Amino acid sequence: MSPHKIPYGRQKITQEDIDAVVAALQSDFLTQGPRIANFERNFAKYVGAKYAVAVSNGTAALHLSLLALGIGKGDNVITTPITFAATANVALYAGAKVYFADIDPDTYVIDIAAVEKLILQHSKGFFKAVLPVDFAGYSVDTESLRALAQEHHFKIIEDACHAPGAYFMDHLGQKQQVGNGVFSDATAFSFHPVKHIAAGEGGMITTNDEGVYKKLLALRTHGISKDNMQYAIWDKEKQGNWYYEMHDLGYNYRITDIQAALGNSQLQKADAGLQRRQEIAQAYRAAFQELPIKMQKQDEKHFNAHHLFVIEVPDRKDFYDYLHANGILAQIHYIPVHLLDYYRQFGWKKGDFPIAEQYYDGAISLPMYPSLSDRELEYVIDKARKYFD
Ligand SMILES: *Cc1c(COP(=O)(O)O)cnc(C)c1O
Repeated sequence: MSPHKIPYGRQKITQEDIDAVVAALQSDFLTQGPRIANFERNFAKYVGAKYAVAVSNGTAALHLSLLALGIGKGDNVITTPITFAATANVALYAGAKVYFADIDPDTYVIDIAAVEKLILQHSKGFFKAVLPVDFAGYSVDTESLRALAQEHHFKIIEDACHAPGAYFMDHLGQKQQVGNGVFSDATAFSFHPVKHIAAGEGGMITTNDEGVYKKLLALRTHGISKDNMQYAIWDKEKQGNWYYEMHDLGYNYRITDIQAALGNSQLQKADAGLQRRQEIAQAYRAAFQELPIKMQKQDEKHFNAHHLFVIEVPDRKDFYDYLHANGILAQIHYIPVHLLDYYRQFGWKKGDFPIAEQYYDGAISLPMYPSLSDRELEYVIDKARKYFD
C-alpha cells in the first residue's frame, strides 16, 4: 500500500508565501491595495503582455473578457467540448449561445480546421468569439486562429487556466508565450490551488488592448469608474473628488490584497514549478512508452506547462478503480461539456463530437504537481506498470 493518498494535483505553500500573506493582513489594505497592482505588473511581465487585470477567479476572468470584448445577448461563440464547464458557462452568463468544435485527437485542444468548418456552415459574422483552451498546458495554435479571425472577424478569448508559462513557436520560429496578447484579444488564468499559481481563489486577464484593459478595470468593480467621465446631468464644477460614473453594468469580481500577496509570492516560484512538472512528465513518458497508454502529443514547437498529465487507456474505469485502490487519486478531465445534463437542453447529444467523446472514454489524469516527490512518482509509475503486466 502507499504511505498516503496521492492526489492528481495540489498546491505547494512555502514559509515565504505564509509571510507574504501575514504581511498583507498586517497592512492597511485587505483589498484594493498596492499588492493587487504589484501582482498585476509582475504577472504581465511574466507572460509578456502589456496589461493584466486581477479578478476573483478564473471564471470571472473569462466572463469579464467576453463582456469587455462586447460579446453579449444573442451572440454566438465557439469553444471546445473538452474543458471545465466554466469556459462554456461564461458565454451563457453573457447571454450568448455556445457552439462546440471537436478536438484534435492527438493534442486534445480544439481543432482549428473544425472551427473553420463550423464557421463556414453559418452566415458571415455569425460567430463573435472563439474560446480555445490550452488543455492540460498544451497551447493552442493561436497564430492560425488569428489568421482565421482576421478573415471572419471574431474575437479570441484564450482560456489559459492550465497554461501559465507555456509557449509555442510561431511560423517564424519566434517564441510566443501564452498570454502575451499577440494573437489573442484576451487571455484568462486561474489561481485555484490545483493550478500552477495558487491564490486560494483568483484569476487574471491579460491583453495588449488599452480599451479592453480599461473596460476590465471598470467591470470588475460594478462598472464604476472615474475614467472618461461625462457629467451628463450635473454641473462639473459642483462635483468633487467623490464623483464617479457607471457606464456599464459590472460585477464585484475583485481579488483581495491577501490573495494577491499569495499569488505574487507563488509567481516567484512559477518557473521552478514548471521545471519540476517537466521532470515528472518526462519520467511518465519514458516509463509508459511500451505500454498500451496513449499520451498527449509532444513536439518541439510546444512547451507544455503540464497542469495535468492526461493519458488514454483501454479500460479507463478499471484502471481508475485500481489506482484509487492503491491510494493514487487519479481524476478525469473532462466529461465533454456538450454531454453535461444542463447542456443537453440545447439539443447536444452523444455522437455530436466523436473525437472528444472517444478521448473521454479512455481519459485519466495522473498525479502532476511540483511537490510530488521522486518516491511518490516512482510509486505511481510502478503501480501503472504492474497494472499492464
Ligand atoms: C480552473 C479552470 C477554470 C475556472 O477557474 P476558477 O478559478 O476555478 O474559476 C476555467 N477553465 C479551465 C480550463 C480551468 O481549468
